[in-house]
Amino acid sequence: MVGGFDSPSPVSLRETVLSPGGRGESGGSPSPLPPGERTVLRSKTGEGESATETRTTCPYCGVGCGVIATREPDGEISVRGDPEHPANFGRLCSKGSALADTIDLEGRLLHPQINGERASWDEALDLVAERFIDTIAEHGPDSVAFYVSGQLLTEDYYAANKLMKGFIGSANIDTNSRLCMASSVAGHRRAFGSDTVPGNYEDLEEADLIVLVGSNLAWCHPVLFQRIMAAKDACPEMRIVTVDPRRTVTTDGADMHLNISPDGDVALFSGLLAWLKKYGKIDEAYVAEHTSGFDAALAASLASLSEVASATGLSETELETFYTLFADTEKTVTVYSQGVNQSACGTDKVNAIINCHLATGRIGRRGMGPFSVTGQPNAMGGREVGGMANMLAAHMEIENRAHRALVQFFWDSPRIAQVPGLKAVDMFKAVASGRIKALWIMGTNPVVSMPNANAVEQALFTCPFVVISDVLEETDTTCLAHVKLPARAWGEKDGTVTNSERRISRQRPFLDMPGEALPDWKIIAEVGRRMGFERSFDWKTPKDVFAEFAALSGVENKGSRDFDISAFDDVTPNGYEKLAPFQWPLAKGAAAGRTRFFTEGRFYTPDKKARFIAVTPPSAKPATAAFMVNTGRVRDHWHTMTRTGKSPRLSQHIAEPFCEIHPEDAMRLGIRTADLVRVENERGSVIVRASVTARQQLGHVFVPMHWNDSYAADARIGKLVSDAVDPVSGQPALKMALAHVRRFKAAWHGFAVTRERPKLDFDYWAAARVNGGWRAEFASADPPAKWESSARAVLGIGAEEELISYQDRRRGDWRFASVRDGILLGVFYASREPVAVARSWASTLLGNDALSAAALLAGRPGGAVEDKGAIICSCFSVGVRQIEAAVANGACLSVDAVGALLKAGTNCGSCRGEIRRIVEKFGTSDDSGANVAQL
Ligand code: SF4
Repeated sequence: MVGGFDSPSPVSLRETVLSPGGRGESGGSPSPLPPGERTVLRSKTGEGESATETRTTCPYCGVGCGVIATREPDGEISVRGDPEHPANFGRLCSKGSALADTIDLEGRLLHPQINGERASWDEALDLVAERFIDTIAEHGPDSVAFYVSGQLLTEDYYAANKLMKGFIGSANIDTNSRLCMASSVAGHRRAFGSDTVPGNYEDLEEADLIVLVGSNLAWCHPVLFQRIMAAKDACPEMRIVTVDPRRTVTTDGADMHLNISPDGDVALFSGLLAWLKKYGKIDEAYVAEHTSGFDAALAASLASLSEVASATGLSETELETFYTLFADTEKTVTVYSQGVNQSACGTDKVNAIINCHLATGRIGRRGMGPFSVTGQPNAMGGREVGGMANMLAAHMEIENRAHRALVQFFWDSPRIAQVPGLKAVDMFKAVASGRIKALWIMGTNPVVSMPNANAVEQALFTCPFVVISDVLEETDTTCLAHVKLPARAWGEKDGTVTNSERRISRQRPFLDMPGEALPDWKIIAEVGRRMGFERSFDWKTPKDVFAEFAALSGVENKGSRDFDISAFDDVTPNGYEKLAPFQWPLAKGAAAGRTRFFTEGRFYTPDKKARFIAVTPPSAKPATAAFMVNTGRVRDHWHTMTRTGKSPRLSQHIAEPFCEIHPEDAMRLGIRTADLVRVENERGSVIVRASVTARQQLGHVFVPMHWNDSYAADARIGKLVSDAVDPVSGQPALKMALAHVRRFKAAWHGFAVTRERPKLDFDYWAAARVNGGWRAEFASADPPAKWESSARAVLGIGAEEELISYQDRRRGDWRFASVRDGILLGVFYASREPVAVARSWASTLLGNDALSAAALLAGRPGGAVEDKGAIICSCFSVGVRQIEAAVANGACLSVDAVGALLKAGTNCGSCRGEIRRIVEKFGTSDDSGANVAQL
C-alpha cells in the first residue's frame, strides 16, 4: 500500500464533549435497550460507575467514518474517530469531531402531532393508515407517495420500500439521493448492467494519478481527501488533477487544475477517448474481451482538440498535458461527485468517464477505476434496498419481470409495482397538480433542498395530506405537515449504513431515547400493520429487518446479481450487535467481502461485457446576461443545517450565506466584498453577502446550499434552481441556475451578539450559534425609526434593562450594550457601512466576565487581547490573522509548522488546505469565502 496514515492523534485531541445538561430536560423515557446491547469497549470503574463506549458511524457524508461515542457516568458524551474503522482509521473531519455539539434536544419533535396538536401514537398512526387506505381506494395506488432520505438507515429504507412497492403496489417512492447521485446510478447501470462501485478507498492511496471531477473533496469528503493527501505526502510522485469550474481548497492541493466550463466534462472525456485511440493507448485486448460498443463510442467522440478546447474552455496545451498524463499513468482513479451528477447531462458525464477507464482496462484492479463518491451517509444503502423509484430491493430491476416475481414471492405480497414510479422532481410536480394526494416525507427537508423550492413549498401547502417523520419539530418542511411523527436521531438509531466503497457499518444507539420518538422502520411497520399487512411487517427489532433483507439479496442469486449479503440471513441478535464493517458482496458461505468488482470482467449485462456508451457533449448555452449559479457545500455545515447549525464550533468558520463573484463582475456591478447582493430570477431571489474572489470564473457565481429560513432571512438558493433534470437519471441540474446579481442597497448594517435567540425582522439577517448564545448579521433598505428600540428588540430586552450606548452621527455608528449584574446580555452594533467589529472576538463575549464598557462599544478587544480574524481552525479556534502573523514573521513556513506553533490543523485536519493556501500565498481575506464579513 502506498501512503498509509498518520498515527491517530491522542484521544484527548479528538474528543468533543457535550455537557451533561444537554439532554437533561427531555422528559424522555429511559433507554429501552438492555445493557447487553450496548457495545462496551471500555469500562472506567470506580465507585461502581462505568463509562460506556459505543462504536457507531458518522451521520454526515458518504465517507462513512467510524466513530466511538463515550458516555461518562454523569451523562457526558464525547466522540472520537474509531481507529479500527477501515474508512477513517481514527480520523474525523470538523463536522464529525463536533457531533457531540449537535445531540441536544432543542427543537426536537418528541411527540406525535396532528394539525399541530399533540396526539397519541395510536391516533397518529391510525390516521396515517386510514388516509392512505382511503386515498388509494378512491384514486389508486399511484395517488400516494413516499419521499425518503439518505439519512435513513438501511432497515428504515427497506421497510418503506417494501410497504410502497410490495403492498401499496406503486413505485412512488423516491429519495433525496436523487438530488445527489442518481446520475452515477444510471451511468453504472448503463455501463455495467448494475449499480456497482467497482473499487475501494485503498485504490485512492495506491493510484499514481487521481482525477477529481466536480468534487470539492477537501470540504465535502474531508477524510477521504486527507487519506489522499497523506498518500501523496508518502509518495510525492502521485499526481492529482482537479476538474472544476471554480478554484477551491481541493484545487489548491492539486498538481493541476482544469478550470473547465460548466458541463464541459462530457467533451473533456469524449476528447480523451479519441486521444487514447489516436496515440495507441487503448487496451485492445481488454476492449475486445470484456466490452461492447467501443466503435460507436469512439465515432461519437470529439477527435479535434480545438473542438474540445472550445467546449471545455480549456487551452489545447492544458488538454494535451492532461491527456498525456492520463494516457501514460496506468494506476489512475477518477473520482467524481456532485459536480458531475447534478447536471442535465450528468449520466453522460459518468459514462464519458467510465468509457475512458474501460478503453484502458483500468477497472477492477488495484489503484484504478472510476469512483463515484456519495454525498449522504446512506445514499448507497438506499440504492441497495430500492429506495429509488426505478429500482427494486437488493439491486433488482423493476423493469425485469423475473425480478418482480422473485421479490413479490419473497415478500408474499399481494401485488408488486409494475413500472417505475415518479422521481423526486416529477413527484413534487404531481403533488402540485393534484395527482398525488397523500405524501409521506421521511427525514428530509425538500422545501430547502429541492430545485424550484418555492413550487415545492406551494405543492405541499395544497396537498390534501402530508405526513412527516422527522427529528425536528419546526423545519421549512415540517411546518407544512398535517401529521408529524417523531423519529429517532443519530445516537438513538440502531441499524446499518453503507458508505461510498460498499462498506456496511452499524449505527448504534448510545443516548437515552427522548420523548416518544420511535425508529423509522418501526413507524413504517406500524402503518403497514394498520393498513392490513400485519404478518409482513411484524419485525421486532432492526436485526429482523436486516436479516430479511440479507435473505432477499441471496434468493436465486448465485453471483448473478452484484448485491448479495446473504451471509447474514440468519444473523443472531448478538451477531447483529457485534457486526463489524464489511464490504458487500458477502454471500452465504463466503469467507469475506469482495474488495473489488470486475477483476476479471464479468459485468452484469446479458453478455457479461461492459458497455461503452456513445455520448455527445451538450450544445453550447446561448449567450445571456444572467450569471450561471453554482451551488454546493461549505466545510463545516451539512445540508440544511438542522444539525450542524446547533454547533457554535461549526458556525465559526462561515457564519453567513454568501455569493462568490469574480472581481471584474463585481466591479462592473458596483459590488465590494462584504456588500450584500440580491441573486434573483423568475423563480425567486435571495440576499446574501458578497465574497469578491478571482477563484470564481467570470460570469459565474457560487452560493452555498445550506442556509434556510431558520438561519437566514432569505437564502434558500434552491428557490432559484429550475426543475430541469437529466433525462436518463432524473437528477436535477442543481449547479446550473441562471440568475441576475445586483447590489442590495442597505441603508445600514448591523451585528449583534445575544444570549437568547435574537429577534430579527430585517430585509437581510443571518443568525449563527456562539458559545452561550447567538451572533447575528442584519441589514435593511430603510433605517429603523428608533435605534434604541431596534436594539432592544434584537437583544430581546425590555425597557427596564439599562442600555449602555455610543453614537457617532457623523460617521453613522450606533452601539448598544446591555449588562445586568456584571453579566453581558448582548451587544448591538449598527452602521451605514458593514459593521467593523472583530467577529472572532465578539463571538466570545458571552463567556467573558471581564469586559470593559469601552471595549464593548469600541467593538474590538482592548489591551493585549488578540483579534484572531476569521476562524480557520474550528477545533482550536485559530483565526486567519494569527496564521498570517505566524507566516509573516517567519515563524512558520509550512502547514506542519503552523500546527506546531498554533495547533491549527492538528486535530481533524479539515482546515489544512486553507492553512496551506495562507502559507503559500499569504492570502488576503478577499480571497476566501471563509472570510466573508470578517472585517
Ligand atoms: Fe463524517 Fe467527516 Fe467522515 Fe464525512 S468525512 S463521514 S462528515 S467525519
